[in-house]
Amino acid sequence: MTDRSDKPSTGRRRFLSGLGAGAAGAAMLAAGRPAAAFTVEPATGTAGAVLENALAEQRRHLAFRAEVRTEMVRQGATPERIEQALALMDCPICGSRLGPDSISALPASERGEDTARG
Ligand SMILES: [Zn+2]
Repeated sequence: MTDRSDKPSTGRRRFLSGLGAGAAGAAMLAAGRPAAAFTVEPATGTAGAVLENALAEQRRHLAFRAEVRTEMVRQGATPERIEQALALMDCPICGSRLGPDSISALPASERGEDTARG
């Protein structure tokens, strides 16, 4: 008899310890993500992978904002009007508002693209 009820699930424990294995776990998580159009910088550990996910989502917001802005400029909207509209729109992917906060984690060099043109 080797029934040890105090350790019910060694399989699950092995899975969790695999996730905690730093770079290997992060690489596994990264491999499970859909391919993106931009280059993903190497992430160190799970925290790095989480940060990369957040940045990827914010880059999507940047692209949505650019699309909306281009269309509204074409319709003759003022920059103020465009910002008001963006602040009321939701990201179709994650549901967060597309206001300025939706790109606040991006480096200034990338946020620099997010300006009213024309
Ligand atoms: Zn989003």
